[in-house]
Amino acid sequence: MSLSAEDLRHLEPTLLVLLAEFLVVFPGVEDEVVESPESRAQTDRDTAWMEAALAEADLAYARREVPVGCVLVGADGVEIARGYNLRETLLDATAHAEMVALRAAASKAPSWRLDGVTAYVTLEPCIMCAGAFVHARIERVVYGCDDPKGGALQSLYTIGQDARLNHRFAVTRGVLAEACASRLRSFFAELRAMGKK
Ligand SMILES: [Zn+2]
Repeated sequence: MSLSAEDLRHLEPTLLVLLAEFLVVFPGVEDEVVESPESRAQTDRDTAWMEAALAEADLAYARREVPVGCVLVGADGVEIARGYNLRETLLDATAHAEMVALRAAASKAPSWRLDGVTAYVTLEPCIMCAGAFVHARIERVVYGCDDPKGGALQSLYTIGQDARLNHRFAVTRGVLAEACASRLRSFFAELRAMGKK
Protein backbone atom coordinates (compact mmCIF):
# COMPACT_ATOMS: atom_id res chain seq x y z
CA MET A 1 0.00 0.00 0.00
CA SER A 2 1.32 3.44 -0.87
CA LEU A 3 0.12 6.83 0.41
CA SER A 4 -0.23 9.80 -1.88
CA ALA A 5 0.64 13.34 -0.80
CA GLU A 6 -3.05 13.93 -0.45
CA ASP A 7 -3.35 10.97 1.94
CA LEU A 8 -0.45 12.30 4.08
CA ARG A 9 -2.13 15.67 4.42
CA HIS A 10 -5.17 13.93 5.80
CA LEU A 11 -3.08 11.74 8.08
CA GLU A 12 -1.12 14.58 9.62
CA PRO A 13 -3.82 15.99 11.95
CA THR A 14 -4.45 12.48 13.30
CA LEU A 15 -0.75 12.10 14.13
CA LEU A 16 -0.73 15.47 15.83
CA VAL A 17 -3.66 14.43 18.02
CA LEU A 18 -1.83 11.21 18.96
CA LEU A 19 1.31 13.19 19.79
CA ALA A 20 -0.69 15.64 21.91
CA GLU A 21 -2.28 12.75 23.82
CA PHE A 22 1.14 11.20 24.35
CA LEU A 23 2.45 14.44 25.84
CA VAL A 24 -0.56 14.73 28.13
CA VAL A 25 0.00 11.20 29.43
CA PHE A 26 3.77 11.71 29.71
CA PRO A 27 4.14 15.43 30.35
CA GLY A 28 7.72 15.01 31.53
CA VAL A 29 8.94 13.78 28.19
CA GLU A 30 9.21 17.12 26.43
CA ASP A 31 10.83 18.74 29.48
CA GLU A 32 13.51 16.15 29.88
CA VAL A 33 16.90 17.86 29.81
CA VAL A 34 19.94 15.81 29.02
CA GLU A 35 22.92 17.42 30.73
CA SER A 36 25.66 18.19 28.26
CA PRO A 37 29.30 17.37 29.09
CA GLU A 38 29.97 21.13 29.30
CA SER A 39 27.20 21.80 31.82
CA ARG A 40 28.23 18.75 33.84
CA ALA A 41 31.80 20.05 33.96
CA GLN A 42 30.44 23.46 35.05
CA THR A 43 28.40 21.81 37.80
CA ASP A 44 31.47 19.92 38.99
CA ARG A 45 33.53 23.13 39.04
CA ASP A 46 30.78 24.95 40.93
CA THR A 47 30.64 22.19 43.52
CA ALA A 48 34.43 22.16 43.98
CA TRP A 49 34.60 25.95 44.46
CA MET A 50 31.64 25.89 46.83
CA GLU A 51 33.57 23.39 48.93
CA ALA A 52 36.39 25.93 49.06
CA ALA A 53 33.89 28.59 50.16
CA LEU A 54 32.60 26.18 52.82
CA ALA A 55 36.16 25.78 54.11
CA GLU A 56 36.19 29.58 54.54
CA ALA A 57 32.86 29.39 56.37
CA ASP A 58 34.43 26.86 58.72
CA LEU A 59 37.24 29.32 59.51
CA ALA A 60 34.58 31.87 60.45
CA TYR A 61 32.84 29.26 62.57
CA ALA A 62 36.07 28.55 64.44
CA ARG A 63 36.24 32.27 65.34
CA ARG A 64 32.61 32.25 66.52
CA GLU A 65 31.66 34.33 63.52
CA VAL A 66 28.49 33.59 61.54
CA PRO A 67 29.84 30.91 59.17
CA VAL A 68 29.78 32.40 55.69
CA GLY A 69 32.60 32.04 53.17
CA CYS A 70 33.36 33.44 49.73
CA VAL A 71 35.82 32.62 46.94
CA LEU A 72 36.40 34.75 43.82
CA VAL A 73 37.49 32.86 40.70
CA GLY A 74 38.75 34.45 37.50
CA ALA A 75 37.59 33.68 33.95
CA ASP A 76 40.68 31.49 33.58
CA GLY A 77 39.47 29.30 36.44
CA VAL A 78 42.17 30.51 38.82
CA GLU A 79 41.31 31.75 42.30
CA ILE A 80 41.76 35.49 42.85
CA ALA A 81 40.87 35.83 46.52
CA ARG A 82 38.82 34.33 49.31
CA GLY A 83 37.41 35.51 52.59
CA TYR A 84 35.08 34.76 55.45
CA ASN A 85 32.81 36.77 57.68
CA LEU A 86 34.80 38.85 60.18
CA ARG A 87 32.15 41.22 61.49
CA GLU A 88 32.72 40.52 65.18
CA THR A 89 36.50 40.20 64.91
CA LEU A 90 36.86 43.53 63.11
CA LEU A 91 33.83 45.16 64.77
CA ASP A 92 32.91 46.15 61.24
CA ALA A 93 29.35 45.86 59.92
CA THR A 94 30.70 45.68 56.36
CA ALA A 95 33.11 42.80 56.99
CA HIS A 96 30.90 40.18 55.33
CA ALA A 97 32.69 37.30 53.61
CA GLU A 98 32.06 38.80 50.16
CA MET A 99 33.42 42.22 51.13
CA VAL A 100 36.49 40.65 52.73
CA ALA A 101 37.13 38.68 49.54
CA LEU A 102 36.53 41.73 47.31
CA ARG A 103 38.98 43.80 49.34
CA ALA A 104 41.56 41.01 49.15
CA ALA A 105 41.04 40.93 45.37
CA ALA A 106 41.50 44.70 45.20
CA SER A 107 45.02 44.36 46.52
CA LYS A 108 45.93 41.89 43.75
CA ALA A 109 43.78 42.54 40.69
CA PRO A 110 44.99 45.09 38.10
CA SER A 111 41.63 46.87 38.11
CA TRP A 112 38.58 47.43 40.28
CA ARG A 113 36.65 45.81 37.45
CA LEU A 114 36.41 42.09 38.04
CA ASP A 115 35.24 41.21 34.53
CA GLY A 116 34.67 37.52 34.00
CA VAL A 117 34.94 36.75 37.71
CA THR A 118 32.61 34.29 39.44
CA ALA A 119 31.88 34.70 43.16
CA TYR A 120 31.12 31.57 45.17
CA VAL A 121 29.30 32.34 48.41
CA THR A 122 27.85 29.88 50.92
CA LEU A 123 24.86 32.12 51.78
CA GLU A 124 22.74 34.28 49.49
CA PRO A 125 24.38 37.73 49.50
CA CYS A 126 22.74 40.69 51.27
CA ILE A 127 21.95 44.04 49.61
CA MET A 128 25.38 45.45 50.47
CA CYS A 129 27.32 42.55 48.99
CA ALA A 130 25.03 42.19 45.98
CA GLY A 131 25.54 45.92 45.38
CA ALA A 132 29.29 45.52 45.69
CA PHE A 133 29.18 42.75 43.08
CA VAL A 134 27.36 45.13 40.73
CA HIS A 135 30.03 47.81 41.33
CA ALA A 136 32.83 45.29 40.76
CA ARG A 137 31.21 44.09 37.48
CA ILE A 138 31.23 40.50 38.65
CA GLU A 139 30.05 38.17 35.88
CA ARG A 140 28.37 35.44 37.90
CA VAL A 141 27.42 34.67 41.48
CA VAL A 142 26.96 31.10 42.70
CA TYR A 143 25.54 30.69 46.18
CA GLY A 144 24.61 27.86 48.50
CA CYS A 145 21.52 28.40 50.62
CA ASP A 146 18.87 31.10 50.38
CA ASP A 147 18.60 33.81 53.03
CA PRO A 148 14.85 34.44 53.35
CA LYS A 149 15.44 37.34 55.77
CA GLY A 150 18.17 39.21 53.96
CA GLY A 151 18.92 37.69 50.57
CA ALA A 152 19.22 40.18 47.74
CA LEU A 153 19.64 37.92 44.72
CA GLN A 154 16.42 35.93 44.97
CA SER A 155 14.69 36.06 48.37
CA LEU A 156 13.95 39.77 48.98
CA TYR A 157 15.46 41.42 45.91
CA THR A 158 16.87 40.34 42.55
CA ILE A 159 19.72 42.81 42.34
CA GLY A 160 21.69 40.65 39.89
CA GLN A 161 18.92 40.99 37.32
CA ASP A 162 17.73 44.55 37.96
CA ALA A 163 17.60 46.28 34.56
CA ARG A 164 17.67 49.71 36.25
CA LEU A 165 21.26 49.14 37.32
CA ASN A 166 24.21 49.56 34.99
CA HIS A 167 25.43 45.98 35.38
CA ARG A 168 23.79 42.59 35.72
CA PHE A 169 25.24 39.21 36.54
CA ALA A 170 24.17 35.59 36.25
CA VAL A 171 23.03 33.83 39.42
CA THR A 172 23.16 30.13 40.25
CA ARG A 173 21.63 29.13 43.56
CA GLY A 174 21.42 25.98 45.63
CA VAL A 175 24.95 24.61 45.15
CA LEU A 176 25.69 22.43 48.23
CA ALA A 177 22.76 24.27 49.83
CA GLU A 178 22.25 21.75 52.61
CA ALA A 179 25.90 21.76 53.68
CA CYS A 180 25.89 25.58 53.68
CA ALA A 181 22.63 25.78 55.65
CA SER A 182 23.64 23.12 58.19
CA ARG A 183 26.73 25.18 59.15
CA LEU A 184 24.46 28.11 59.94
CA ARG A 185 21.89 25.99 61.77
CA SER A 186 24.46 24.38 64.06
CA PHE A 187 26.16 27.74 64.65
CA PHE A 188 22.94 29.39 65.82
CA ALA A 189 21.91 26.29 67.77
CA GLU A 190 25.23 26.50 69.65
CA LEU A 191 24.69 30.20 70.31
CA ARG A 192 21.23 29.50 71.72
CA ALA A 193 22.59 26.66 73.83
CA MET A 194 25.12 29.08 75.29
CA GLY A 195 22.26 31.40 76.22
CA LYS A 196 23.28 34.10 73.81
CA LYS A 197 21.18 35.70 71.14
ZN1 LIG B 1 26.62 40.84 52.81
